[in-house]
Amino acid sequence: MIHTRRTLTADQELEFDVCIIGSGAGGGAAAYSLSRAGRRVAVIERGSYLTPKDFSQREEKMFPQLFYDAGGRRTRDKAIRVLHGHGVGGSTLHNINLCKRTPEEVIAGWELPRFNLEKFNPYLIKIESLLGVTAVREDQLNASNRAFRRGVEKLGYRGGMLSHNRQGCVGSGFCELGCAFDAKMNVLRVLVPQAVAAGAEIYADTRAVAVEHSGRRARGVQCEVLAEDGRVQARLRIRARTVICAGGAIETPLLLQRSGVPDPNHLVGSRLHLHPGVVAAGVFDEPINSWMGIPQSYECTEFLSFKRGGTDEDKRVWIIAGSAHPAGAASLLPSFGDEHRKRMEQYPRFAPLSSMVHDRSSGTVGRKGEYGADINYQLNEEDCAQLARGLRESARILLAAGAREVLFPFTEPLVVRNDAELQAAPIAVRPLEIDVVAVHPMSSVWMGRDAHSSCTDESGRYQQLDNLYISDASLYPTSLGVPPQISTYAIGLYVADQIT
Ligand SMILES: Cc1cc2nc3c(=O)[nH]c(=O)nc-3n(C[C@H](O)[C@H](O)[C@H](O)COP(=O)(O)OP(=O)(O)OC[C@H]3O[C@@H](n4cnc5c(N)ncnc54)[C@H](O)[C@@H]3O)c2cc1C
Ligand code: SF4
Repeated sequence: MIHTRRTLTADQELEFDVCIIGSGAGGGAAAYSLSRAGRRVAVIERGSYLTPKDFSQREEKMFPQLFYDAGGRRTRDKAIRVLHGHGVGGSTLHNINLCKRTPEEVIAGWELPRFNLEKFNPYLIKIESLLGVTAVREDQLNASNRAFRRGVEKLGYRGGMLSHNRQGCVGSGFCELGCAFDAKMNVLRVLVPQAVAAGAEIYADTRAVAVEHSGRRARGVQCEVLAEDGRVQARLRIRARTVICAGGAIETPLLLQRSGVPDPNHLVGSRLHLHPGVVAAGVFDEPINSWMGIPQSYECTEFLSFKRGGTDEDKRVWIIAGSAHPAGAASLLPSFGDEHRKRMEQYPRFAPLSSMVHDRSSGTVGRKGEYGADINYQLNEEDCAQLARGLRESARILLAAGAREVLFPFTEPLVVRNDAELQAAPIAVRPLEIDVVAVHPMSSVWMGRDAHSSCTDESGRYQQLDNLYISDASLYPTSLGVPPQISTYAIGLYVADQIT
């Protein structure tokens, strides 16, 4: 059953086998698996229970409903915008649905004896099958992705079609605002109904305040039911034999810190990776309407390699088509007033490309006030150089595809019209000189071999408490270098199987 603020009006104390905090990729998959295995499962979700009719396709309405801080969360120095979502389904409600498996070399690089590819692969295969992951068809490429592919092929770069989890998609392009057509094969459509059918109780509009613990055991979870204006309207106390934190890589460390769980080596919340990205936009003569059709269905991997050593060592940037609705696009475009208006007039002719770096920079997540996030993360020089390379190569691709000009949205906007201008252009990524956006936070409560150097063991169990598990994008020991949803769904299934 799905409970919401409409029904959760009185204080309650409840008992379950498992209490899962967070209903995104990791929490949703764990809930699916454990409830079907016969466990009595409660899922606590800070966001609301939205259904396709609620996805109004309006940025100003959906951003506050779907994203923490209405999508405006930033790192401490304001240089990087960090997006992550809430709602029953977590970030899978608003994500773009593209599916890439955890790179084999990345898993091998973790050198974990018990968490290896052989062990993890079946979970990746299982989730892909559950979510109906399939390659986007050629005839589904929108104009933006077609231009991107044209440029990649003209330059002889490595590129390819991507796979997505969508069924019945009409190509409206509104994925980032939730799907009004119920075409996303995500937690909300696939896993929640099956978990609920198996008896899971989902508490939406409910914030987990703290994990109760004593000795080496988690005892339960204190929660608050939030009214629409954020006021606490009721309290829940869940007693559970096992607690799973699946709040995502920003909220899970905050919850653990708030709860005062033992952390003798001060690891929780450190080692955050963001897979941050920057955008360059090609301006074409003809309309591109990049917001229409399936977004992000083609990739360029010429500058991305997970092999260590040799020239591959230096390839850490992944290039992909970007898309933004008007408010999002306007916020990324530099300048003010008339100049900004002129840029926005070009919006239908933009084909943006986004470059994301497999980051080695790492940062921290700490508490700001009671429930805010203090994200302290600065890109190191090498990662800045990778992003600059991504911008330069994006421009080459766009010019090869026939763009009239390429706009780099630096605070001092830079435009190039041909290869000679591009070669001479001073392209560098420095904090606050270009908007950096991160939609894939991870690694803040990572797994490892021992309690001195990792937060959880290889089963996802918190090193200091025997019945507390982590099941979200926090668990990766490094950045994945690819979008993390499929890996994180698979982590949810994997962690569920570790719980005896
Ligand atoms: C705009 C955007 C586009 C993306 N596109 C893609 C894509 O195309 N492909 C891809 O692979 N990845 C994509 N991602 C990333 C992907 O969606 C996430 O990596 C993935 O969902 C992470 O799963 P998770 O379980 O760690 O956290 P989430 O899915 O974020 O779920 C965490 C949930 O926990 C809840 N929660 C947190 N703390 C509490 C608390 N204290 N009490 C109650 N509830 C709590 C949150 O409200 C949230 O619902 C995208 C992300 C964004 C922001
Ligand atoms: S493009 Fe497809 S999945 Fe995305 S919102 Fe439109 S119908 Fe839904």
